[in-house]
Amino acid sequence: MMLSYDLTIVGGGMVGLTLAASLAKSNLKIAIIENREATPLSDAPASRVSAISATSRTIFEKIGVWQYINPKRITPYDTMCVWEKDSFGKIEFDAQQVEAEQLGYIIENEQIQHALLTVVQQQHNVTFYCPDKLSNIALGDGEAWLTLDSGKNITTKLVVGADGANSWVRKQVNIPLTHWDYNHHAIVATIKTDLPHQHCARQVFTPEGPLAFLPLFEKDLCSIVWSVPPEKAKQLQALSAIEFNKQLTRTFDNRLGFCELQSERVSFPLTMRYARDFAKHRIALIGDAAHTIHPLAGQGVNLGLLDAVSLAQCLLKSSESEKDIGLYENLRQFERWRKTEAAQMIASMELLKQLFHGDNPVQKTVRDLALLFADNVAPLKKQFIKQAMGLSGELPTILTH
Ligand SMILES: Cc1cc2nc3c(=O)[nH]c(=O)nc-3n(C[C@H](O)[C@H](O)[C@H](O)COP(=O)(O)OP(=O)(O)OC[C@H]3O[C@@H](n4cnc5c(N)ncnc54)[C@H](O)[C@@H]3O)c2cc1C
Repeated sequence: MMLSYDLTIVGGGMVGLTLAASLAKSNLKIAIIENREATPLSDAPASRVSAISATSRTIFEKIGVWQYINPKRITPYDTMCVWEKDSFGKIEFDAQQVEAEQLGYIIENEQIQHALLTVVQQQHNVTFYCPDKLSNIALGDGEAWLTLDSGKNITTKLVVGADGANSWVRKQVNIPLTHWDYNHHAIVATIKTDLPHQHCARQVFTPEGPLAFLPLFEKDLCSIVWSVPPEKAKQLQALSAIEFNKQLTRTFDNRLGFCELQSERVSFPLTMRYARDFAKHRIALIGDAAHTIHPLAGQGVNLGLLDAVSLAQCLLKSSESEKDIGLYENLRQFERWRKTEAAQMIASMELLKQLFHGDNPVQKTVRDLALLFADNVAPLKKQFIKQAMGLSGELPTILTH
């Protein structure tokens, strides 16, 4: 039997589900194909967390998802402290500097995913195929034909690849990728600290890479993202917990007292990816399928959520004026818009990474002076804060109406 949908989203991660939830009030018939079954939430802190910007919070509120995230697991942070190891360079950001209450929120990915699923599963216009996988895509003039692993056949006007960094959709439709290795692996773990985090997100730049401590829902609990060269990551993973704790405490300049590992250490290789096309005939890419960036500024999923709501806006416009949502000419505005925003974010990450690269004393002094300067120039600082809060760039109408 041939099943028919307007829109088929491949990948029910945070970004794919946000797209579906943004289209709840539309007449579009949506299929979501996700190959992993949801796992129950755990009481123990999960090691994958995201710094969610003020803008992403507004997106979740507008699509009715924020209220389903367990409030006890949302940790707001109102200050951010960034410094360079073994030097005087530092910069501090405070929500009050932009008349806001918070700079952002640290939330476990599984809590966000669970809230999104709760909302999308209640949606009248969505059908889930889970666990299932796409095994073939054929693009025709008027529609795309999809075959799933389960043998089901689907016709659809538009296929959205929201299937993550190694996107099957992107490869299948031969969209080239610009990419480079950051030569960093990120070690992620949950850490108990002697001193309370006081709702401050902290990051130290070391010659090997940045180490972030993100505040969690207990006052002495943080999630770390420790980016180091691949060899060093292997060494850190192989250390005994006692030795790891010592190295971590030292690297973090003892800012929160002694640090104690509470979870396993998981390592993620970090690669910059930028798809050359975010759209083509009957195809659109969003989230990590379209771009991946270094996590040093915690912006990856925030960028992806903006892709999702921007695409939803373009699809609604086409559908309301009875245009074919899968025609490239109707996706071009989305593509131009989001490619520009992603390219700017990639360039900012590169600038930050390069700025803190290298141990040369002259370079270090110049860098530290630049940081001190930035820390004392209010308009510059405000601009940084607004960018981190997701308040710069061209915003979708869901955020401005
Ligand atoms: C160490 C680290 C820390 C980070 N910290 C932050 C942060 O603080 N803030 C931030 O904004 N971002 C952060 N990021 C980035 C963020 O995690 C990603 O941008 C985000 O998870 C991407 O979401 P997504 O939905 O696009 O992709 P994914 O989360 O990868 O979801 C893709 C989904 O597609 C499914 N799938 C894959 N292939 C198929 C297929 N063929 N068929 C069906 N389903 C399929 C997968 O099962 C998955 O559910 C971090 C990243 C890393 C590595």
